[in-house]
Amino acid sequence: MTVDYHVHLEEGPYSFRWLERTSRALRHFHGNDEGVHHRSWIQTSHSLLSDRLEKGPYSAEWLDLYLKKAKERNLKEVGIVDHLYRFVETRDYFEHHMDLSDTELGRKQHRWLNQVMTERMADFVRFIESQKEKWANEGIVLKLGMEADFFPGCHDQLKALLDAYNWDYVIGSVHFIDGWGFDNPDAIDQFERYDLDALYARFFGIVEEAIRSNLFDFVAHLDNLKVFNFRPDERTLLPHYEKIAKALVETNTATEVNAGLFYRYPIKEMCPSDTFLTILANAGVKFTTSSDSHFPDDIGMYIGENTEKLRKLGIDQITTF
Ligand SMILES: [Zn+2]
Ligand SMILES: [Zn+2]
Repeated sequence: MTVDYHVHLEEGPYSFRWLERTSRALRHFHGNDEGVHHRSWIQTSHSLLSDRLEKGPYSAEWLDLYLKKAKERNLKEVGIVDHLYRFVETRDYFEHHMDLSDTELGRKQHRWLNQVMTERMADFVRFIESQKEKWANEGIVLKLGMEADFFPGCHDQLKALLDAYNWDYVIGSVHFIDGWGFDNPDAIDQFERYDLDALYARFFGIVEEAIRSNLFDFVAHLDNLKVFNFRPDERTLLPHYEKIAKALVETNTATEVNAGLFYRYPIKEMCPSDTFLTILANAGVKFTTSSDSHFPDDIGMYIGENTEKLRKLGIDQITTF
């Protein structure tokens, strides 16, 4: 069965690059590439964008594009998530755990948080719930999820935030080490400040704590620290890989094969890496598959390939939630 359990509707910051990418997605579906770069073309592109911006990410018109592509790519189940940091209700949580100090990194991250924290959780929940029946009528199960950032020691505060709504599933993600958002291209210089072996040990320690928190149905992109190609010789990481596999099995927590880093980031590699994936599969870890798409034209990306890859490793049953 082909499923995509990690799909986003929107993500800031709202730069001209974001506008361009959103426009590309709209043109993909509206076939507006005739007379490209003519005045009438830019006028139509502008009007599509304008409509999209006015209606926002939680609009049937926008989600319908995901539905259209999901059908084309033959998906049977789709889970829509948003990042926890998108929601204004979570401000205290992120202010507590992120480095927002009066330093270069702190100021950068403070600006970023204000740029991306734009939504209300109730609007997201209500919207996805309202669309489930339409998707069911088209033969696809639509699920409501949340991608929650995990920080060491955050258990009670995070649990209280998640308990407010009835999620079909919750993804646990590590995007921060000691308050630094390591996947933010704006803060990439921080990698130079760390010893890579120590950094990876710290990272996998946090991932293990996330798994053992029992707050999550699956833990996402297990080795996303490699995003910008900063990684020690992978042979030195094998003990960490074994430790993560053990934690997933012992807590009966699933993970995903996530294509996001493969088609959107410098590393151009799936999460987990082939070596890591083999260790996890041999240990009996449960897997789902995900595109980590942030635009409707990317939903289902590499799901077929990754489902087949798992099958070759003896995993016939893709986990759903
Ligand atoms: Zn993520
Ligand atoms: Zn994601």
